[in-house]
Amino acid sequence: MEKRYEGKAKVIYPGPEAGTLRVYFKDEATAFNGQKRGVIEGKGAINNRISATLFRYLEAQGIPTHFLRLLSEREMLVREVKIVPLEVIVRNRAAGSFARRYGVEEGQALPYPLVEFSLKNDALGDPLIYDDAALALGLVSGSELARIKELALQVNRLLKDYFAQRNLELVDFKLEFGKLLHPTDERGAIVLADELSPDTMRLWEMQSGEKMDKDRFRRDLGGVEEAYREVLRRVEAA
Ligand code: UDP
Repeated sequence: MEKRYEGKAKVIYPGPEAGTLRVYFKDEATAFNGQKRGVIEGKGAINNRISATLFRYLEAQGIPTHFLRLLSEREMLVREVKIVPLEVIVRNRAAGSFARRYGVEEGQALPYPLVEFSLKNDALGDPLIYDDAALALGLVSGSELARIKELALQVNRLLKDYFAQRNLELVDFKLEFGKLLHPTDERGAIVLADELSPDTMRLWEMQSGEKMDKDRFRRDLGGVEEAYREVLRRVEAA
């Protein structure tokens, strides 16, 4: 099948029906805007299952997503969307680039969840972007931006609880949203897209603070595969 698009962690193919796409999850991992590369053995299959479980859970809680169903160990079927070119980051604690940017300690609690946007543009290194710039550049409309923020905060509340019940703290995560474009779908509606996995979120063991996400790869902490597998086990636990 002809590729529609190949990213760092996933490959997108046309789906079996009009308006659908097949997403294939790869084991390849990159960090620091592609400067660090590696393979996390089994990651593709793990992230496919973690994402599917979390998309299903969010759908059941009323969040519209692009997810339709699992197709195989490494593939899911999704609704075709036009991706909004913003990375939407939600933060419950200071970590990563936020902690560096503002010179605060990683792990510092935040009084309420923050929503932050980056422009999706690898050549520019995904620069931080503020609301007015996103609007002025025509990346989204005002009502779309408001809807994206509302959904991002709802997803945060739901996932934070979901992980807390599994003894994991959701520190921060990145979401991508898309607009439905197929005639049989509600055209223009904003839905959650991309993936939900330890590649795109920080998860810390509740008591010890041990990192259970891609920071193990970024920071050469070892035990990367084991952490991903443990997150899958807990995500799938009832
Ligand atoms: N993130 C992501 N893709 C990106 C940038 C960030 O999935 O291109 C996720 C990252 O895994 C973390 C959260 O978004 O859970 C916030 O990342 P941050 O801005 O702190 O950047 P980082 O420190 O990862 O460079």
